[in-house]
Amino acid sequence: MVNKESMEELIAKTAELIIKSKHTVALTGAGMSTESGIPDFRGPNGIWTKNPEAERQAYQSYFRFQQDPRQYWIERMTGTSWIHELIKAKPNPGHFALAELEKISLLKCIITQNIDNLHQKAGNKKVLDYHGNVSLLRCYSCHSRFDPDEYELEKLLAEDRLPPYCKRCNGVLKSDIVHFHEAIPADVSSASQQEVGKCDVMLICGTSAVVYPFAMLPRIAKQYPSKQKTIIVEINAEPTPLTQEGISDYIIQGKTGTILPKIVEEVKKKKS
Ligand code: NAD
Repeated sequence: MVNKESMEELIAKTAELIIKSKHTVALTGAGMSTESGIPDFRGPNGIWTKNPEAERQAYQSYFRFQQDPRQYWIERMTGTSWIHELIKAKPNPGHFALAELEKISLLKCIITQNIDNLHQKAGNKKVLDYHGNVSLLRCYSCHSRFDPDEYELEKLLAEDRLPPYCKRCNGVLKSDIVHFHEAIPADVSSASQQEVGKCDVMLICGTSAVVYPFAMLPRIAKQYPSKQKTIIVEINAEPTPLTQEGISDYIIQGKTGTILPKIVEEVKKKKS
């Protein structure tokens, strides 16, 4: 699919769509946070593009937790994983643009694959963490989520009392992050389906759209029965399978940290 319109025309068209829309939803991925210094997985400078061994290890995390939760926790807390960097990261102009769009009531929800908590740090209130959130713990049994500060993890490590146990049901706690081979938490999965069912404009920002079941969401939006057509706009550094298969109506090719603020600026100009 080749866009005949210029970048400026596509930005203006997207702003118009958002203003007229009843329910705009944004789907986001790792590309959204590269400008915050967090590498993506599969982009040209991605963690896995550069280090395929890291990808192999990521596929083992969930089994390691199931087999030996104590060891899983020791490795998480003492290892040199990139996950430690996520906690320190700060939102970039792309995140702030989506927060602004929610503030003026033109963005109803973000469904993110990112685990970095940056949409929340930017100020968005309605965020569905499809793959969990690095800043939370989740019980393996009852699925309750907790702030890690409630658990004094460093103390538990020093006293060899890991893993932490749930205060509600005494089940074992893991990170809220959804590991490969682990099911998407049911509450998030069903809320995401509802949002997709309602949306008439979907902005898909910084994702290669190859991780399932998340990558099903735009496809469901496109084919949702008995509702008006959802317009799907991709904002991504490169074309994706959604572009190639015609699932998205068009792509605005470039950086989310540049394009999203321009869209929001255009929205405000048109509304004033
Ligand atoms: P991905 O790495 O597969 O794809 C990222 C896409 O974004 C690529 O197409 C890349 O070209 C594009 N991109 C990179 N920087 C961009 C920018 N500044 N502007 C616009 N586009 C840009 O990422 P994914 O599709 O989200 O799938 C990766 C999985 O890994 C997800 O499930 C996610 O949970 C996880 N992940 C999360 C983080 C995070 O929380 N920040 C980081 C890496 C991976």
